[in-house]
Amino acid sequence: MTETAIFDDHDSKNPAFQNLGFDSLGLAPELLKALTESGYTTPTPIQAQAIPVALAGGDLMAGAQTGTGKTAAFALPLLQKLLPLANTSASPAKHPVRALILTPTRELAIQVEESVKAYAKHTPLRSLVVYGGVDIKTQTPHLKTGVEVLVATPGRLLDHIEQKTLQLNQVQILVLDEADRMLDMGFMPDLKRILALLPKQRQNLMFSATFSNDIKKLADDFLTKPQLIEVARSNATNDNVTQKVYQVAQSDKEALLIQLLKATDSKQVLIFTKTKITASRLSRSLEREGIAADAIHGDKTQQERIKALDAFKSGTVAVLVATDVAARGLDIDQLPMVINYEIPSAPEDYVHRIGRTGRAGALGIAISFVSPEEDKYMVEIEKLIKRQITKEIIAIEKPGPRSRPSSHKTSHVVSSQDAATTKRLPPKKKNIDPWFDKPYEAVIEKKDAITRSISKNKAPIAALLGGLRLNK
Ligand code: AMP
Repeated sequence: MTETAIFDDHDSKNPAFQNLGFDSLGLAPELLKALTESGYTTPTPIQAQAIPVALAGGDLMAGAQTGTGKTAAFALPLLQKLLPLANTSASPAKHPVRALILTPTRELAIQVEESVKAYAKHTPLRSLVVYGGVDIKTQTPHLKTGVEVLVATPGRLLDHIEQKTLQLNQVQILVLDEADRMLDMGFMPDLKRILALLPKQRQNLMFSATFSNDIKKLADDFLTKPQLIEVARSNATNDNVTQKVYQVAQSDKEALLIQLLKATDSKQVLIFTKTKITASRLSRSLEREGIAADAIHGDKTQQERIKALDAFKSGTVAVLVATDVAARGLDIDQLPMVINYEIPSAPEDYVHRIGRTGRAGALGIAISFVSPEEDKYMVEIEKLIKRQITKEIIAIEKPGPRSRPSSHKTSHVVSSQDAATTKRLPPKKKNIDPWFDKPYEAVIEKKDAITRSISKNKAPIAALLGGLRLNK
């Protein structure tokens, strides 16, 4: 059995309690310099708690949602521990893999390695990412030059091991990132094979957004007396994210979405669908409506996914439609809005999805389109997040002969109590939810704000998008 200890949040030695800077964590100057350059001033709660434990050398089981800064929470101590072995030798033998970071998806692997590289930029430590979906031969030469930190998805790692292009016998630190997702995605057999190839003497750091029984079993099997750290209630949703639920028939969802998107004048919107087919179909429909959109899902090649993600990050594409698996781990700076076009049947996915917004202290909005058939999923979600979200109905302006005159463009929000009687509202009433009339409040400084006009056709419904910009 695993013995777990809860890290004492009120321990006066705990930097999280004292709200001190990164230098209080005993990190090396090379790492502190990189953090300053990344614009980080204060450790996030997971960093303040996990870094000292990981530096002390023990195993760790950390419950942290995405967007909490968990990558730096494991990457910084890992780099610090490898620093005494860092060298500038050209010999590959001097750069064996000493830290292995496993992630469930390629996108997460890429992002984690980007972070590792950024934090290690003033050290001679080398890092590399390997993932499936691209020609393995392109990765082999890089592996052969030697890297201390390897970030990998499990399947591709095993391919490299089989091809004997990789040795893991010097691994001192293993990180399992988003371990719950790895189990959900069926990686358990691969994980077992990989773990059997690692030296028994090693430090294990496991990060998971949820602590299911399966995760506890994984911890029991692979961790040694781990310290348990939980920064927020598991399955809690971020308070920075305003959650809205719109009740809408499945057949009306596309019209509602287009209406909402056309009403906003500039933003990045991440839209979730349940299936790859819906993701593709929806992104094509949006494009036909003149909305710059792309889809990201498992049937796309790695190049296509990277291209779509880059276009979204740079603002060339304003709307990205994604399935859960493809979107896992996406870190898009200051993403203001997530729309659940379809409600996930696994309630944890809801938490992961809306965790894409409201990151690092920014405000965000998560809108869910719930059809009557999906009510049952919403019930489970509300149980999980221990919160009830009032359902609202928005009048949909349908094109065609039966559409309302263009002067009647205002849409309305009504509470679910009125739902049965009020399917299409007369368009003159004012929004009855004052929330929509609040202006957008940015709580952190905007970096290079990405502003791309989705449509010139701004309607008062813009306020529905979190008051992103009101048409005055
Ligand atoms: P993560 O949960 O690791 O995906 O991190 C979420 C986002 O927070 C990333 O964009 C990080 O660059 C950013 N971040 C992580 N730690 C800090 C920090 N201490 N201060 C400011 N931003 C941070």
